[in-house]
This record gives sequence, C-alpha cells and structure tokens, in this order.
Amino acid sequence: MDCCSTTSNLLTLDQALNKMLSQVETVSQTEQIDLAQAAGRITAQSVTSPLDVPPFANSAMDGYAVRVNEVTESAVLAVAGKAFAGQPFHGEWPVGTCLRIMTGAPVPAGAQAVIMQEQAEVQDNGVRFTHRPKAGQNIRLAGEDIQQGAEVLVAGSRLGAAQLPLLASLGVSQVSVYRRLKVALFSTGDELQPIGQPLQDGQIYDTNRFTVRLMLEQMGCEVIDLGIIRDDETAIRDAFDSANRQADLVISSGGVSVGEADYTKQILDNQGQISFWKLAIKPGKPFAFGRLSQSWFCGLPGNPVSAALTFYQLVQPLIAKLSGYSQWQKPRQQRVKTTSSLKKTPGRLDFQRGILSTNSQGELEVRTTGHQGSHVFSSFSQANCFIVLEQDRAAVAAGEWVTVEPFNSLLES
Ligand code: AMP
Ligand code: MG
Repeated sequence: MDCCSTTSNLLTLDQALNKMLSQVETVSQTEQIDLAQAAGRITAQSVTSPLDVPPFANSAMDGYAVRVNEVTESAVLAVAGKAFAGQPFHGEWPVGTCLRIMTGAPVPAGAQAVIMQEQAEVQDNGVRFTHRPKAGQNIRLAGEDIQQGAEVLVAGSRLGAAQLPLLASLGVSQVSVYRRLKVALFSTGDELQPIGQPLQDGQIYDTNRFTVRLMLEQMGCEVIDLGIIRDDETAIRDAFDSANRQADLVISSGGVSVGEADYTKQILDNQGQISFWKLAIKPGKPFAFGRLSQSWFCGLPGNPVSAALTFYQLVQPLIAKLSGYSQWQKPRQQRVKTTSSLKKTPGRLDFQRGILSTNSQGELEVRTTGHQGSHVFSSFSQANCFIVLEQDRAAVAAGEWVTVEPFNSLLES
C-alpha cells in the first residue's frame, strides 16, 4: 500500500488542533480569590504592581554610606550612626563623617555610595577607605526591579512557584482568576474493572481514567469522575446526559474505533454535533471531537498509550484555551541523534516514546524505550520524551538525526 492512498482521508494533528481551537472560547466567569488559594489558577486580568520594588533605595552590601567627594586616600571619617535592614538611620549626618550600613538597610538621604566593609580600615577615630567610590555604587535604587504600575503578569498566566512569590513580594493579597474548568470523564468497556477488584476472565484494569484524571488535576480542572460505563446503549446515553449537564468538557475513552464507533456515534448524533476523526498520527488514530448541547466533547481512543498521547497532544491545548491559559506553550522540540534504530512506515506522524540523555561527550542523544505498541504502557513509564517522526519518514537507522519533544509537566516524573 502506498502512503498517500491510506492517509488521504486522515486529518493531520495540526488540522485537528486548528479545528478544535477555532471553535472554543475561554470560560467567561472569573472570581477574586486569596493568593494563598491561587496556586495553579489562571489570571483573568493582567496584574500591575501597587508599589516600587525595592520600595526604597537600599544598600547592596554591608559597609559604609558616604558622600563621594569626602572619601580620599588619607581621610579618616568618623562613624556618625548606623542603618540596619528594618531600622533606618534618622539622625543628623554631619559633614565629613560616614554611616555604618548593612545590606537591605534604607540608604540615608544624601548618601551617594556604599563602600563595602572589605575596602574599609577601621581605626580608633573612624574609618579610612582603600578605594575611591563611584556615585551610586552598591545602592539598589527604588523601583529598580519593578516600578509602581508596571505590568508584572499578563492575563492568562498560570500562577505557579515562579509567579505567586512575585505577587506576594508586591503585597498583592487577592487575584482575579478564571473559574475552574469542569471536566467530566468516564471510561467505556465491558472488559474494564476498577482497581481494587479482582480481575474476572477477560477483564483488564481501567488505566485511562487514571491518566486522564491525573492530567486534568495537573491542569487545575474540577474533575467529575463518572467511572466505568458498560457497553450498553442506555448506560452510555445516561453517562453522556449526566456529563453534559454537569461539565464544560466531557472526555470519554474507548468506543471510538471502528465497530463500536457506530454505536457511540448514534447516541452522540442525537445529542450534538460530533466529528469522528481519523488522525494521521500514531498512536491515536481514532479521535472524536464536537459539541454536546451544553458542553464540549472529546472521545479518546481506548488503548492506553493512544489515550494518553491524544490527551497530551490535543486535549491539553484545548483545555488551556477553555481555561484561559493563553500563556500555555506547545512542548518544545529539538533535533538530536538517535542511538537506536526505530521502526516506522511512511504515512502517519509517529510519537514514539524515548529516553533523552547526555552522553559522555556531553551531547544529547535519544534511545527508544522498546516495544511501541499502543497497548504497551511501559513504553511510556520509562520515557522522558517523544521521538517525533515525520509523516513521510520511513525506518530510522541508529545515528540518524530525529526530532524529540521532552515531556512537559503533565508527563514528567
Ligand atoms: P476501544 O477503543 O474501546 O475499542 O478499545 C481499544 C483497546 O483499548 C481495547 O483493547 C480495550 O480493551 C482497551 N481499552 C479501552 N479502554 C481502556 C481503559 N480505560 N483502560 C485500559 N485499556 C482500555
Ligand atoms: Mg471498548
């Protein structure tokens, strides 16, 4: 079979993503919450600084505050007072003297430089300086880091460990965020058993609800877990009804491949506008997306590797947009050499699982995690990146250059 006749009716990943993202809008509701509750939330407005940081000019060193032209090689300046962090100097500062000053202490009015104590010789009647200071030396100016009124976070930023402390340092106690996205999920399949139950003949454990729930939680969603739904028309219809009523987005796994698809399709056709797509990606060919009466819907393939991959590549950016996370970035890619040969036939964009590491020459290289079947989840658990093999590419020999996409926080260990 040649590649083009098998793939002509398939959608590329980018086409599917564009179709999805062009249809959905960010949730409109926002809320004002305490900073202590804001971890992982998305800012609904830009945040501007209510103050200058630092709020006052202060010393960058332990040393002496001076007037620059009073410092000469021979001058011995008496110490007229002290300024500590949190204890400013408010006294008289006579001409021809210096002030002891510590790191973080407000620089007294009139001080033009701070000389570090390593450049000072303490004598009985004062201090002699071994270096002539430059004006402004060792003084951190007010507003040097952030000026009052400056934008410190744009709308659509995620509040993580690099953002929350900044807001705390500005004294910002409340922040406007988008409301959490409500996402309902369920797995379909008569063969599925929840963990904690013994497996009966022909049963397997439900993996996908774990994958999806964990990724949703990491993305800050409110998760509505509807469990495992049997392959039964009424049960599936009820699950869709319930999910649609409660959530902004409904995610199911299983039942979108040929055979079962017709069945799920019938139900979904009555409830909304759903497209069943065959994607030109591997793993993860079958994927459904569309609109139910009150919510969006994503149907993930049942195979656990395919479910995780399609969530990561398609649902993750969708949720970012729905949640207002405009600063979300596609995982970055880079070119490295593979040390393993890789099986591949032309036709689909392949996301193989790989291990990216640094070799003894300090160069990055990648190797495969082995068996790449869409049911082989161990290929994921060893991996730290995707090896992204272009649609037209055939088998890859060891030593060839390939594109890798290191996992972001959804898959990182
Ligand atoms: P389906 O898409 O329902 O035809 O499922 C395709 C394959 O994935 C079958 O081998 C199913 O048993 C398996 N599968 C479906 N759902 C799950 C799940 N939640 N956890 C683990 N395997 C699953
Ligand atoms: Mg099934």
